[in-house]
Amino acid sequence: MPSLPTEQSAALFERAAKVIPGGVSSPVRAFRAVGGTPVFIRSAAGAYVTDVDGNEYVDLVGSWGPMLLGHAHPEVLDAVARAARQGTSFGAPTGAEVELAEEIIARTPVEQVRLVNSGTEATMSALRLARGATGRDKVIKFEGCYHGHVDSLLVAAGSGAATLGHPSSPGVTEATTADTIVCAYNDRASVERAFAEHGDEIACVIAEAAAGNMGVVPPMEADGENFTAFLARTAHAHGALLITDEVMTGFRVSRSGQWGLDGQHGDLMTFGKVMGGGFPAAAFGGRADLMQQLSPVGPVYQAGTLSGNPVATAAGLTTLRLATDEVYAQIDRNAALLRAEVGKALDAFQVPHVIQHSGNLFSVFFTPQGVTAVPDWSVAATQRQDVFAAFFHGLLDNGVYLGPSCFEAWFLSAAHDDAAMDRILEALPKAAAAARLA
Ligand code: PMP
Repeated sequence: MPSLPTEQSAALFERAAKVIPGGVSSPVRAFRAVGGTPVFIRSAAGAYVTDVDGNEYVDLVGSWGPMLLGHAHPEVLDAVARAARQGTSFGAPTGAEVELAEEIIARTPVEQVRLVNSGTEATMSALRLARGATGRDKVIKFEGCYHGHVDSLLVAAGSGAATLGHPSSPGVTEATTADTIVCAYNDRASVERAFAEHGDEIACVIAEAAAGNMGVVPPMEADGENFTAFLARTAHAHGALLITDEVMTGFRVSRSGQWGLDGQHGDLMTFGKVMGGGFPAAAFGGRADLMQQLSPVGPVYQAGTLSGNPVATAAGLTTLRLATDEVYAQIDRNAALLRAEVGKALDAFQVPHVIQHSGNLFSVFFTPQGVTAVPDWSVAATQRQDVFAAFFHGLLDNGVYLGPSCFEAWFLSAAHDDAAMDRILEALPKAAAAARLA
């Protein structure tokens, strides 16, 4: 199968690499894990993206989650244009941000929210608030969970779980990460050990509501208790708080996010992606007594020049209002179909894999033969990157744009109609065949 033309993308990539480190504004876009030339996008509409060489792909990235309704949804575009014509930023409160806050509160258990510009800001601010409210310094995070590039959360586990973390990036100081304890996701004993050792110093536990950044790893049940419920119970027993990060799952896996599926939530929650409708908007929220500790009511400082930006707010509010039960039902149906068909295609070519999901959010792990479930990072990390790379390029060459890393979720939208789904289903056996040859 000849590869698609990539001359224009390659030329842009060469220019980009001279002026932007790695040629990209966020690392995974550079295709380092899969090789080849990153696709430079010219435009997108509905379920499709078109690159600068004119190749059209069915999009399974969806801007890494925000595009729940598909690209360039006409009603979202209208709302954005209307908002922009009335001024693009005021640095003053607006009615629209009140409406967006009300919409988030109507869909989730939070009582108050503050709007910010990115998921990173949301988790960074929620952590500060948890530390401010408890007067404690330490946080527990999980290996393989990503919460944005917050210094204290850019931490790799030491040897074994429940260890004090080490910086996973130069520029993050040992002092910053000394207050971060890394545990293994779904490993209750590691959390119990951390609390036994540091109980009265721990401000909070932060966890993805369902992990989606090491591939999709839902919170597991044990003895009738969900892992997130266990985290809440254990944190509270020690006077600590729980933050559930719903930046990826929020308003995607159900109209009320992961909380809508399993009923579990933190004292604080973080949101992003879908609620910005493709613009930079995110939020953190929680119990009113905690949120009232924020400036200007309380002492915990947090602010932002563009926070509650009227154009982003219009995009997010319109997206949420259009995200009806029918939208979620359609995405759920297509996600189930795609999971089944990916499994069939990989089985037919004897490519070992595990498929996991939380609601409509799913991913395919190219784990070695014999692995049947992925509960945490230590297993997710055993994936055959070369097999994934072959599968990825098999899809790309056949007009399907999947996230260029085996640790990413697959994102569908309401714009993925039968024609778009058929295109993916046709490409799957070709990609699976390429993966077998890897
Ligand atoms: N939390 C989670 C669960 C995420 O998936 C992400 C982004 N993938 C973030 C936080 C950070 O969000 P942003 O990239 O908007 O800073």
